[in-house]
Amino acid sequence: MTPHPETNRLFLRHVAQTSPNPLGLEIVRAEGHYLYGPDGKAWLDLIGGISVCNTGHRHPRVVAAIKEQADRYLHLLVYGELVQSPQVEYASLLASHLPPSLDSVYFTNSGAEAAEGAMKLAKRVTGRPEIVACRQSYHGSTQGALSIMGDEYWRNAFRPLLPGIRHVDYNSTAALEAITMQTACIIIETVQAERGVYVPDGTWLRQLRQRCDATGTLLVLDEIQAGFGRTGTLWGFERYGVVPDILLLGKALGGGLPMGAFIAGRERMWLLTGDPVLGHITTFGGHPLCCAAGLAAMHVLLESGWIAEVAEKEALFHRLLVHPAIRAVRSCGLLIAVEFDSFETNKRIIDTCIDRGLLTDWYLFAPQCLRIAPPLSITHELIGQACSMILAAI
Ligand code: PLP
Repeated sequence: MTPHPETNRLFLRHVAQTSPNPLGLEIVRAEGHYLYGPDGKAWLDLIGGISVCNTGHRHPRVVAAIKEQADRYLHLLVYGELVQSPQVEYASLLASHLPPSLDSVYFTNSGAEAAEGAMKLAKRVTGRPEIVACRQSYHGSTQGALSIMGDEYWRNAFRPLLPGIRHVDYNSTAALEAITMQTACIIIETVQAERGVYVPDGTWLRQLRQRCDATGTLLVLDEIQAGFGRTGTLWGFERYGVVPDILLLGKALGGGLPMGAFIAGRERMWLLTGDPVLGHITTFGGHPLCCAAGLAAMHVLLESGWIAEVAEKEALFHRLLVHPAIRAVRSCGLLIAVEFDSFETNKRIIDTCIDRGLLTDWYLFAPQCLRIAPPLSITHELIGQACSMILAAI
């Protein structure tokens, strides 16, 4: 459904664009697994707002929590000064589902800001100048997050970037060797999503942990896309028996409202309170509305049983997505990349799917891969429908 011509003109004229050919679908409503256009056309959402809507669109309990909070208060004061119960409750709930060493939550506005906060905290804790990051990693689009992004094409136009960043291959021994007594932290995605879904080698991840311990380097795991049950466990790192020093969350964290977080041990986080005081400042981070929504969504997720169903749903996608044109199906839970021979093939399939009512897209560093990251509540029936549509589009 193309929008009304005048709305479309104003969209292109006044809403800043980031691609010459935006999808440009007008959406007037979203509910559960579907987005709806002005004429009632429905799209089955196979990407969940890019790993955001783990509990579906507008879960009734999330909407109720937002309304209830809106009736109490919205923004009161900059982050950290006032006791706001949605923040306190959400931080406590998160801490109660994390290892004891991750008990202090700094809520931010976005995933990128969480990455920025983690880099600052690592420098503040260690007093060291260097950061190690991985090629083909994505941590956000702000200047610092861009500096650790592992792809030259996306970075190059925005130089100068942060100094002291070293890029290494994921799952490589070079990564272990790059960590020295000068390294403040290494930041990796627990699952490399935008590369087209690549998982870490468990042994490598444990060696990384050991190398960090030996050198006093902080291990930062970015679970902005992999967290909140998407990989089949509440947190991706649980699969590998490795606990990070700083955990990055975002996307599903806000239950559909904008929020990120960097989480560390209280003693380390406390360093942001002195020398300088206000070591990280945000006006809106931990907004009460976002915390109320995220808190409700996390309760829904924990009570739902959906996380336990992720593995069988992942297996169903693998069983159904078989076709000579499909080169590979890589997955970690319900984060799935369907690989074709080229971007052109993939784009044609994506466009056909969207035309027929299935919303999907491609991965940033793997444009030949079709993205699947649905709400975790997706049913077997909907998985069947989605896969049939993809196969028909091929
Ligand atoms: N880290 C990862 C792994 C992401 O996938 C993203 C966003 O896609 C980010 C960080 C940045 O999050 P945001 O877009 O909220 O800044």
